[in-house]
Amino acid sequence: MRSTFAALATATVLAVGLTATPAAAQPAPTTLDSLTTATPAGLVPARPSPDDVRRALSKIARASDGRVRLGVIGRSNENRPLRLASVGHGRTRLLFVTQQHGDEPLGTPAAIRALWALGVPDTAWHRWLRNRVTVDIVVQANPDGAVRNQRYNHDPSASGDYSAPGVGYDINRFHNPLTPIADNPVPESRAVLRLWQKTRPRIVVDYHMQGRYLQPDGEETTASVLWPTSPLVTAAAVTAGRQLAVRTDEATSRVPGAYVTRYPGGDYEGIARNAYGILGSASLLVELSDLPEEQTEFQITTAFVSMIATVQGAADGSLWRIDPARADQIPARGPALPGVLSTLSRDDAA
Ligand SMILES: [Zn+2]
Repeated sequence: MRSTFAALATATVLAVGLTATPAAAQPAPTTLDSLTTATPAGLVPARPSPDDVRRALSKIARASDGRVRLGVIGRSNENRPLRLASVGHGRTRLLFVTQQHGDEPLGTPAAIRALWALGVPDTAWHRWLRNRVTVDIVVQANPDGAVRNQRYNHDPSASGDYSAPGVGYDINRFHNPLTPIADNPVPESRAVLRLWQKTRPRIVVDYHMQGRYLQPDGEETTASVLWPTSPLVTAAAVTAGRQLAVRTDEATSRVPGAYVTRYPGGDYEGIARNAYGILGSASLLVELSDLPEEQTEFQITTAFVSMIATVQGAADGSLWRIDPARADQIPARGPALPGVLSTLSRDDAA
């Protein structure tokens, strides 16, 4: 499995590198080989516990000689640390968030692989990359939900909109930048909002999972993407989000078997995709479909490739040369796959 993953991801990322216009000072992208072949597949289970995440991040921090830096941006209601891992020291800042919904885990192992791939090897290309970008990743933003395999955070006092009363809040409805932070009842959302205020990232990508969906041509959607759709987002930020969508679509569509569609999301400003667009970031939602177990590795690879392609496009500036109109060519997501019961298939589960 490991060699399959490495070969596949290497081919994919190389293809991305070759289509980008290299900036003058960029070392040859052939060094990207080391990006994925040096990434161990067994760093964490596909559905890691908070302890698995802690151990993997510590291992990466050590293996990278401190180039991957670890921090904590807050605490959950059960006092679990909300973990931040950062790599690079460049001016362009990116923020990735994984597993806001505890039962949507696969962005987390992808982020851990990306941290290894960006921070552990020390080639000329990696040094060039880390000089140009700073990548911050909130890894497993909802640890209390993760230990319960539940969507919501853990808050027995939860009530009102976007909550499961007595269970917890939907973290991804509480990023509203128009709400005073003191009135925000969700510690995980507050922590990400404060991190945004502190770092002002140019790019924010939020990794989730969805149910299973069939396209009119009989193919199954393997991932869906969407940029900000709130009317409060400026045209410039929408354009930048659409460029991110095209980048992830192009890069991940090179993974054999991938089929990327446009996610049918709403315009509520509390959703991270909209909230960080309102604040002015290029913002994107990525939804991995809840495919059968044997495709787990493929799904992790999809998210990993999306992350690496986004970082690379930010570092060499190729992201901002993408024609945003190409986002319109990403097909709309089809109807739910008949006969499949996924807990992630509800219309509001995103
Ligand atoms: Zn979700």
